Amino acid sequence: MELWITERQTKNLGLTCRVKEALFTGKSEFQEVVVVDTYEFGRMLVLDGVFQTSIFDEFVYHEMIAHVPLFTHPNPKNVLVIGGGDGGTIREVVKHPSVERAEMVEIDGLVVDVCKKYLPEISEALINNHPKVHLKIDDGIKHMKEAENFYDVIIVDCSDPIGPGEGLFTYEFYKDVYKALKADGLFVQQTESPFFHQPLIKRLWKDISSLFPITRLYLTQIPLYPGGTHCFTIGSKQYDPLNVDTAKLPELNTRYYNRDIQKSCFVLPNFVKELLK
Ligand code: SAM
Repeated sequence: MELWITERQTKNLGLTCRVKEALFTGKSEFQEVVVVDTYEFGRMLVLDGVFQTSIFDEFVYHEMIAHVPLFTHPNPKNVLVIGGGDGGTIREVVKHPSVERAEMVEIDGLVVDVCKKYLPEISEALINNHPKVHLKIDDGIKHMKEAENFYDVIIVDCSDPIGPGEGLFTYEFYKDVYKALKADGLFVQQTESPFFHQPLIKRLWKDISSLFPITRLYLTQIPLYPGGTHCFTIGSKQYDPLNVDTAKLPELNTRYYNRDIQKSCFVLPNFVKELLK
């Protein structure tokens, strides 16, 4: 018998994958945690029915959410990842020689444990207890309330704005992020699909640009996510991603990200520019 798994990406649209094997199903205090091995995407993490990351295309998301903001800041030392329980973002953060402390605050310890076991390629920095990495199992919203003037870069690698991730998409949260950053700090957040989440993107853009003098949105292609095109939003106190001298950037060991993409990802089609007016 064939086994298929569907994510309902919108009310009326789904992505369905044929499953080779169901590897793990469990429930934490926060969500249902599933790992399946699929034909097209390989092993995949699914939280509350939403596809989070897959062996096939995870490198795009994790490289783009980490390197674009980290290379916008000239000397990031203290970096925080909120969410990111699969470990892919922190794996990319520790590639930057300037980073001294890479904190990760993930609400759900089960996600971390399950990814270490079933997605070790993604979780390698957590499995190896990388010396720069400091993992805390806690609510990122609470952690932000307690932090002040400390981080150079904050990366919000969250799930969708439902369940435990809902409060990570609010004006109140962005105010706390602003307070937690140093005077020249910046943050990035995954901000969903420019095709299917337009009201959300408009609201976040308004909230973030009312707090941060520099707000920029950039795009990439991730087949696992709705519509295949995904966006990220940066709020920055001082450094403008558009002014990065890309010729001076060091080469990193990456499969998607490169110096040309550091610039080109900010080139937006007209319908996206319209959203940000
Ligand atoms: N790449 C993914 C995407 O765009 O779908 C995100 C992956 S990562 C697994 C998202 C993580 O955010 C989950 O492990 C979830 O538990 C975590 N998370 C959700 N709400 C959170 C909160 N309030 N504080 C910290 N982590 C949170």
